Amino acid sequence: MRKLILVKYASEIFLKGLNKNKFEKKLKDNIRYVLKGLEYEFITDQGRWFIYSEEIEELINRLKRLFGIAELCVVTEIETKVDKIYEEALRELKENGANTFKVETKRADKSFPMNSMEVSQKVGAYILKNTEGLSVDVKNPECRVTVEIRKNTYIYSKKIKGAGGMPYGTNGKTLLMLSGGIDSPVAGYMMARRGVELSCVYYHSHPYTSERAKEKVKELAKILQTYTGNMTLYIVPFTDIQMSIIEKCRKDELTIIMRRFMMRVACEIAEKNGIHSVSTGESIGQVASQTMEGLVVSNDAADRPVFRPLIATDKGDIMDIARNIGTYETSILPYEDCCTIFVPKHPKTKPILREIIKEESILDIDVLVKEAIENMEVCKDLP
Ligand code: ATP
Ligand code: MG
Repeated sequence: MRKLILVKYASEIFLKGLNKNKFEKKLKDNIRYVLKGLEYEFITDQGRWFIYSEEIEELINRLKRLFGIAELCVVTEIETKVDKIYEEALRELKENGANTFKVETKRADKSFPMNSMEVSQKVGAYILKNTEGLSVDVKNPECRVTVEIRKNTYIYSKKIKGAGGMPYGTNGKTLLMLSGGIDSPVAGYMMARRGVELSCVYYHSHPYTSERAKEKVKELAKILQTYTGNMTLYIVPFTDIQMSIIEKCRKDELTIIMRRFMMRVACEIAEKNGIHSVSTGESIGQVASQTMEGLVVSNDAADRPVFRPLIATDKGDIMDIARNIGTYETSILPYEDCCTIFVPKHPKTKPILREIIKEESILDIDVLVKEAIENMEVCKDLP
């Protein structure tokens, strides 16, 4: 008899038909990756995944963050023998401390002499006989004791919610525009949770934004890495671009023109590094540049899909996610970002594409983009 973790993966993976193996393999690789350094044994029993380790709490903590896992169950593995099943189910229920219960049986081993229904009934009767004050509630029990009869038998009632989503690395690549704010780390988390591989780009306006602002972004990238594993952060010097815009363009169009440059640089980095798309933390109506008109005009500068997973999410809900995933406390540190320094007093909220294109045409766009990319810092090994 020993305790194991039963890994139940997201039901979406079952819907993948012929591609299911690819998703399973990736999830297995990701499990091995997060469990590095821990002694464990990976056991499969007719399509079920079990992991054994002496350090069960640590095992759970690491697996809880892994995308593609729907649920983790703490199971006790016993020999497939009737009296052992009775005893263990009773012990499991006593440990749970519930007042009402239901026994659910899954019988993969059809050579076992009782069918599922009989097992559930007999185990239930045994529990009732050996306890006081407990009752069966088939509709809404406080505790569901599951008995899975396979080569061995697995009994469990304790379930821990997994991170959900799809295995990281199964759905293409995106370049996340990562600022020091609250939104973009959440946007990155949401893309990664759907299995999209992340890289990040940060536009740094030295000396207008401090070294500490840059460190803060690195810190956020590191927190994201606890979900994704190693990723690359591109730090792009942005001051020359901003200074050129300030010098040559209308004040009320600074922000939107700057955002078009962010898009261009991101797309160029994506192109050079085989990244399919760009992602941002934009949310409709949140600030002047995130009006529908503003988004349309900044989007026009991109030559590939730009994903905005938070587009229809309220700020309060975004903050809740940020707290849950552990980025909030870092995001609210007070270091300025480049956008807050260069914001005009009255930015245009309804920019007109043709006017903006005309206004920015005075700039040597290609050279500015090229130079920013030539001078960028590539951090591949954030600890
Ligand atoms: P956030 O909370 O993510 O900073 P925000 O509400 O402050 O977003 P903006 O400053 O308008 O909104 O930025 C919108 C999006 O543009 C951000 O979510 C991020 O994806 C990107 N962005 C803004 N500033 C930078 C920057 N300095 N470097 C990289 N990306 C940035
Ligand atoms: Mg911001």
